Amino acid sequence: MRTPLIAGNWKMNGDLALIDEFADALGAAALPQGVQVALALPFPYLSAARERLPATVLLGAQTLNPAESGAFTGEVAGSMLKDVGMTLVLVGHSERRSLYGEDDAAVLARVNAALASGLTPVLCIGEALEEREAGESERVVLGQLEAVFSELSAEARARLVVAYEPVWAIGTGRTASPEQAQAMHAAIRARLGEWSASLADAMQLLYGGSMKAANAAELLAQPDIDGGLVGGASLQVDEFLAICQSAG
Ligand code: 13P
Repeated sequence: MRTPLIAGNWKMNGDLALIDEFADALGAAALPQGVQVALALPFPYLSAARERLPATVLLGAQTLNPAESGAFTGEVAGSMLKDVGMTLVLVGHSERRSLYGEDDAAVLARVNAALASGLTPVLCIGEALEEREAGESERVVLGQLEAVFSELSAEARARLVVAYEPVWAIGTGRTASPEQAQAMHAAIRARLGEWSASLADAMQLLYGGSMKAANAAELLAQPDIDGGLVGGASLQVDEFLAICQSAG
């Protein structure tokens, strides 16, 4: 069976005080057994978070530069994230795709950079509202999946986590219904199965988009939804912990 994973994405929010609040609340005893808990934080807080949060909480960044090092003012390399104790990094988040022009090639380069640094890439894929309304959701989402997975070795594919985040559900309060989310997760898993049955079986598939304590249980009860990528609700420790509990 796949281990449930609840990952918070703070985006450009939070501060040291919030990290301390999480450190107090996420003491090892408060975490549900058998659930992986992760936070993707803004760069300046990563080191402090690693020192203050329990070691059982996986930490990561929200993006990385595809280069190893060099004259890239303002950018952060995967090896630097690894150096400060990170284990994962979000790649291809819809905000990176739409606001910073990251196309499939840019996403693939970042996945490769993350893998080369020993980080777990959390590959985010999802369709826009117009694409859903045009009946294009599956074509778009599987296209984003294929753009990365078809370029990786079998060994590399097995090291990713995939997050399905319909763009129309992000930050809108409009969650995909459990049936809509399950249908897309099943399609993603079926596509993974064309590469390898064991890859499909083992892959952690997260749902993201207005997940909160009130709707997490029914989403997480779906057979192909293995966890959540939580934005707004991950900024409130009680909400986030309640979501983690409902994954247990
Ligand atoms: P919200 O949970 O705020 O909708 O954000 C989802 C998201 O983008 C997580 O990466």
